[in-house]
Amino acid sequence: MTQHDPQSDEQFLFAEEGPDNPEGAANVLRWRCLIVDDDEGVHQSMVFAMNGLVVEGGLIEWLHANSAREALDLLQREQDVALVVLDVVMEHEQAGLDLVKAIRNDLGLTDTRIILHTGQPGFAPEIAAIRDYDINDYRTKSELTRNHIYTCLSSAIRTYRQIRSIEASRQQLRRIIQTGSALMSQDDDIAFARGVLEQFAALLQLACSGVVLLQNPQDAAAGLQVLCTTAGFQAELEQADDSDGSVRDCCLRSLAVCGALERGAQGIALSIPARDGQVLVLYLDTRRQTVGQVDDSVVETFAAHFAACMDNRALLARLQHDAFFDRLLGLPNRRYLSEQLDEVYTSGKQAGLLLALIDIDRFGEINEALGQTFGDALLRALAQRLRQGIQVEATLARVSADIFAVLGPAAIVEPECLLPMFAVPLSVLSEEAMVSVTIGLTRLSDVEADDGPAALEAAFQALRTAKANQRGQLAWYAPELSRQTHERVNLLNGLRQALRGERLFVVYQPQIALSDRRLIGFEALVRWRPESGDPIGPDRFIPVAEQSGLIREIGLFVLRQACAVLAGLHRDGLAGLRMAVNVSAIQFRHPAFLHELQQIILASGIDPRCLELEITESIAMEDAAYVRETLDALHGMGIQLAIDDFGTGYSSLAQLKGLAVDRLKIDKAFVKELSEAEADASIAGVVIQLGRRLRKEVIAEGVETEDQAALLGRMGCPEAQGYLFGRPMPLDELRKWIEAWPAHRQRATAVLPGG
Ligand code: C2E
Ligand code: CA
Ligand code: CA
Repeated sequence: MTQHDPQSDEQFLFAEEGPDNPEGAANVLRWRCLIVDDDEGVHQSMVFAMNGLVVEGGLIEWLHANSAREALDLLQREQDVALVVLDVVMEHEQAGLDLVKAIRNDLGLTDTRIILHTGQPGFAPEIAAIRDYDINDYRTKSELTRNHIYTCLSSAIRTYRQIRSIEASRQQLRRIIQTGSALMSQDDDIAFARGVLEQFAALLQLACSGVVLLQNPQDAAAGLQVLCTTAGFQAELEQADDSDGSVRDCCLRSLAVCGALERGAQGIALSIPARDGQVLVLYLDTRRQTVGQVDDSVVETFAAHFAACMDNRALLARLQHDAFFDRLLGLPNRRYLSEQLDEVYTSGKQAGLLLALIDIDRFGEINEALGQTFGDALLRALAQRLRQGIQVEATLARVSADIFAVLGPAAIVEPECLLPMFAVPLSVLSEEAMVSVTIGLTRLSDVEADDGPAALEAAFQALRTAKANQRGQLAWYAPELSRQTHERVNLLNGLRQALRGERLFVVYQPQIALSDRRLIGFEALVRWRPESGDPIGPDRFIPVAEQSGLIREIGLFVLRQACAVLAGLHRDGLAGLRMAVNVSAIQFRHPAFLHELQQIILASGIDPRCLELEITESIAMEDAAYVRETLDALHGMGIQLAIDDFGTGYSSLAQLKGLAVDRLKIDKAFVKELSEAEADASIAGVVIQLGRRLRKEVIAEGVETEDQAALLGRMGCPEAQGYLFGRPMPLDELRKWIEAWPAHRQRATAVLPGG
């Protein structure tokens, strides 16, 4: 009833009266209209004029007020008043306009329509008032014929209804957008589709019965695919309800008008296009229900909002995929594998499972020499070879550029199964390529921590071992090894902190001349006092420090301390005393060693001839020009050199003869095994004789008893060091020791080489 001719009473639509639709039925739509007039006649003629007429699908329910004041009272009480028809002049000339102001400004009723009329021409309100107070119509009472009343009222009510429905849609949209945002995080595509359909039904004020279809541009041949149907609709589809193709036709038509409603004979459809080309088609059954009023712009906003939701979901899905899959090969990545391993452990299924890491040998070189395209093709070929070789129960993943992982039952992942796969050349860009690999393996049950990262770390550790082994391209993870590695790492971290936190210090052990027991020097030995627990001996931390290169810093620290201490002792009147400092092979071979040593000697101001470096037999015997040159340079500086633990290595006498070494140090193990009976035949005896023949000094370490000292003296060993004379001591203790040492006062003179 949108078109009507106000000139013709016959065109008026009357409410059907009768048993089917009694006027008072509760479900009949009613428009509440308030007449405000001090003239009773106006009330009557209005009611009479509209009696029984249908306006905008409903009947008018009248409210009456005789004055502006009464009207105001009434409007404060009553809800949903669609229209106020009022007389401009009532209590006073402005009463009507004042009431209008109050309705709009004080009561805030913006939706309610207002029609003004007046019995007195000349009292017309100003144009400004009509505009400012949103007044629908202005009439003189003489114009109020039945036709006019009807036209006026129905046009005002139509406007009211539109305003109302736009407001309702707006609220609905707000709700929909909120729900849409929640739907976006819905992982399941079907649940998302169903959620959107439900929102669509709510928008159109329909019960949710219908279907959601998807057009996928990547699968054009498949046409529109059904994503989900509501329960009732499903049954109807199955009963071949759509045998006439009406549902499909409507949906196909809707694809052409994306974002707008497409009305079919039995339903209504809306297509929502996502940026990636996918289109979601919503279809709702309208056979038993009427579509609620909804503004086109609201539908558009609805479609745009869910299109954005689809884009976001697509983006999320891609991110999700990228997070777990390798882009080049489409294989699960390290993260995926790690989570899968986690699952294996949480479900307690690790028994019998193996994890293998397969590292392509020299992949970097292959890539560089033959180009990345070849490298990529090689990876693809290898992935395919592995995929074919292992069965479906095993997972194949790519955990780094050139490392693949296989996780599965022992029977599949065992080396006997893996290795033959690399015995036949691969076909890479139509060339034959042999690929050699290194494999690290672990049994999942061997891993201590029972989680993905730990299992991967174990396999990587095995891989490192395999690479270090050089021979054989395969290694198993050994839990024992891991514990040692762990300890080493802890120790190293502690040591690093100790170095910085001055928890490393140096102790000094006296060296004496066996003939008269006079003090001739000291050996500097490093100590580590951890913040808690017992002191840690150098035997435990020096090897670790050597593996990490931290030994350089430690060595320089000891050198600096020892030189400073020696300078101090010399100043105190103990001139000529010698300081022996241990130098590790790593430190010795470092190119900066000589220079750093010179700096330290210069800074301390000691005579380099009073400094002795204890080097190992292996350095001394190393037949490298560089080592020779360094030894010569040290000797040239006047620094003395001693071979520590002499006799424990395999010294070549020929080499030893030409070596710029001043002293041989008999290891304490050989002192310990000394006995009177075989003195000359003992290793200590041999070293002493050798020294004599090669004109090298000899010192024995680890002398603990008078017997040992006496015997060594008789054997011709000139110098000794050991607990018998003094333990390694910190400086303050050492000074007291020196004071107390009986021989010190008589002959505290310099014993310089050759002097
Ligand atoms: P080393 O150079 O053979 O040092 C002699 C070791 O014998 C020292 O152990 C010393 O405390 C110990 N000792 C001294 N007299 C006796 C004795 O009468 N009986 C027994 N049983 N032992 C005695 P320490 O201080 O634990 O040092 C162990 C090793 O650590 C040293 O063996 C040396 O190879 C290394 N080291 C110590 N300090 C340093 C350093 O500053 N730099 C480097 N590179 N290595 C060091
Ligand atoms: Ca030593
Ligand atoms: Ca030694």
